[in-house]
Amino acid sequence: MKGLDTAVSVEQKLHFTALGQEGEFFIKRDDLIHPFISGNKWRKLKYYLNYANTHHKTKLVTVGGAYSNHVLATACAGAVYGYQTKAFIRGEEIKELNHMLTLCKLYGMELEFVTRDAYRQKDGLYADVREDTLIIPEGGYGELALQGCAEIADELTQEYDYVVTAVGTGATLAGLAKGAAVRQPNCKIIGICALKGAEYLNGEISALIPDLNNWELLHDYHQGGYAKTTPELIDFLKTFTAQTGVLIDPVYTAKTAYAITDLIKQGYFKPNSKVLMLHTGGLMGLMSEKFTKLLG
Ligand SMILES: *Cc1c(COP(=O)(O)O)cnc(C)c1O
Repeated sequence: MKGLDTAVSVEQKLHFTALGQEGEFFIKRDDLIHPFISGNKWRKLKYYLNYANTHHKTKLVTVGGAYSNHVLATACAGAVYGYQTKAFIRGEEIKELNHMLTLCKLYGMELEFVTRDAYRQKDGLYADVREDTLIIPEGGYGELALQGCAEIADELTQEYDYVVTAVGTGATLAGLAKGAAVRQPNCKIIGICALKGAEYLNGEISALIPDLNNWELLHDYHQGGYAKTTPELIDFLKTFTAQTGVLIDPVYTAKTAYAITDLIKQGYFKPNSKVLMLHTGGLMGLMSEKFTKLLG
């Protein structure tokens, strides 16, 4: 077994009082695909691993921050499917491994801590990479990622008016929009940006999927910026999890779920719409020291 096979990710009806009565709300549980090759990172890795397999690569190299869901997913996938793995981690000052990097190490990943300047110069990082190694871009971005994310739309068991997803690089949204254009022609894909000032993504995503206009990015739900939170978001996260039994994280999926409830209040969705939230996974960050302090 050298590649990821079939994802198991169910659609569930959401019972959350803040969603109100008008319309129907569902959640697709990509967080349940795998605890560490989680959510959209599984989707994005799928065709990279396929490629590695067919091109006889034995090693995967990637990059990320100290709390990168993508780096952890790559480490775990490498161990499960038989690849050596290495990651360049942003921050040469990191002395102690956090829980996510500890897991990477347990999965046998080699970690190299690099300065922020070195991190920016990806060509420099990859200078010594050999023929037998596949470089997977930051966050798992790229054409192969889109292919994996497009399959999310193939799996949907009913027609939706809206599918809402968290957005970092936009690869998941772009792949989803591509898949939906074929499978769910009346569905609009809405991306909730986790980063502040991410308006540049409108152009980047348009370049990835130039023929499609079944998507929209919303830029007002970042809560102060990437990995930033507000007391309101934290309260929301707690209520949502206690009421639904579905864990969400402050960086991505809580912002998305919060956005959905706010959009309902604002009357954004057509009356009686069917709305699906894609749970993009990535729950390990929830247990970082910073968030356990806020959430406890
Ligand atoms: C990485 C990540 C995202 C961002 O996905 P993009 O394809 O980069 O937009 C969203 N949600 C979670 C949970 C993630 O880990």
